[in-house]
Amino acid sequence: MLPQKRGQIPSRIAMNCYWKVLPIFLLFLPSSLSLQPARPRVLLVSFDGFRWDYIYKVSTPNFHYAMENGVRVKQVTNVFITKTYPNHYTMVTGLYAESHGMVANEMYDPILNETFSLNKMDVHNSKFWEEASPIWVTNQKEGHKTGAAMWPGTDVKIHGVFPTYYMPYNESVSFEDRVARLIDWFTSEEPINFGLLYWEQPDDMGHVLGPENPLMGPVISDIDKKLGYLISELKKAKLWGAINVIITSDHGMSQSSSERLIELDQYVNRGLYTVIDHSPAVAILPKEVGNHGYDNILPEMHPIFVAVGPAFRKNATREGMNATDLYPLLCHLLGINPLPNNGEYHANATPRSCTATVARLIMLGTIFYLMLKISLSKKNNRGGSAYGE
Ligand SMILES: [Zn+2]
Repeated sequence: MLPQKRGQIPSRIAMNCYWKVLPIFLLFLPSSLSLQPARPRVLLVSFDGFRWDYIYKVSTPNFHYAMENGVRVKQVTNVFITKTYPNHYTMVTGLYAESHGMVANEMYDPILNETFSLNKMDVHNSKFWEEASPIWVTNQKEGHKTGAAMWPGTDVKIHGVFPTYYMPYNESVSFEDRVARLIDWFTSEEPINFGLLYWEQPDDMGHVLGPENPLMGPVISDIDKKLGYLISELKKAKLWGAINVIITSDHGMSQSSSERLIELDQYVNRGLYTVIDHSPAVAILPKEVGNHGYDNILPEMHPIFVAVGPAFRKNATREGMNATDLYPLLCHLLGINPLPNNGEYHANATPRSCTATVARLIMLGTIFYLMLKISLSKKNNRGGSAYGE
C-alpha cells in the first residue's frame, strides 16, 4: 500500500484513492559501518496529551535531565485531527490519517457499514486498522521481537499479527507495572528490540481542568516523576544509555470556553446530519474546559518530543519535524526497512551521536590510508626490482 497525498479524500470514506508519495531516504552511511550497538533498540513512550510547553510551566527536572542528555524537537507538527487514535497510528506508520485510515476516535465506515467507537472500547475490529501496517508488524517480519504496554492498537490483530508481547488494554494497570513488563521484555533471554509504552495522562486531567489551570501543575509534576521512575528503572536494568528512548505525545491541549461555542443547531437542522465524532468542531455544550482535535498547525495542539540514547546528540535542539517523520526515524534506528510512508528521514537532520560520526570518519580515513600505503608499497616493490634486474 502506498500513502495518499495530503488533502485527498479520507480512505475511511472513499476507497478509490490514488497513491503517490514516496519517502525520501538519505542514509548517512551504510548500516554496515554503523558504530551503534550490534542490537539497536528503541523504547517509544507516549504521555497522552502532553503539550510541548508543559515542561516550562512547572519544575520538570526529569524531562530536563533527558533533554540535557539527548535531543529536543521544539515543534512537532502532528496530524489533523489532533486526536489520540489518528496521531498514535501516524507515529507507528509514518502516514497521514487519510492514508492509514484511522481518521478519528469515533468513526463510521460506510463501505463496511461499521462503527469504531472509543467510548465503547470497540476498537478491536481489525478492519479499521488494516489500511496500514504498523511498525511492529514490519519489525517482526524482519525477525525481531516487539513489546507493547497499552499503546493504542497493540492489542488488535493487524494483518494477522499481534506484537510479540503485549498487554490487553486496561487503564487501571499502573505506570509502574507497564514499565516492569517492558524491562522484562528488554532483558529476557529472547529480548525485544522495540518497546512501546503508553500512559493516559496528562490528557484526562487536561480535559477536566484546562491546560492553563494552575491545578495542572501537580499533574505535570506527576508525569515528570513517572519519567524519573522510568529512567531509574532503565538505569537499574543497565538499559539507560544503551537503548534509544523517545518520549513524545499525540497532541497538546487548548483552553476551551462555553462563551466561544458555536451552536450547530442554530445553523443546521439536526435532521440533516448524524453526529459521529464529538470533535471540537462539533457543537456540544462542553462540561470540560480543555480540548484537542483542533487544527494541527496551532502550537497548542503540538506534543512534546525528547529523544535520548546512543544514536542521539546530547543537549541538542531541533526546531521542528512532522509526526510522520517519526516512523522512518524509528525504522532507521531499528535497522528495518520502512514501508512507503508520508514521512521523511534526513540523516543530517537526524540527531546522531557526534562521537559515532567522528569515529566513523576516523575508521574510513584509516581504511583509505592503509589501502593507499599497500598500493604505494606494491608500486615501490615493483619499481625496485625492475631497477635491480
Ligand atoms: Zn490523546
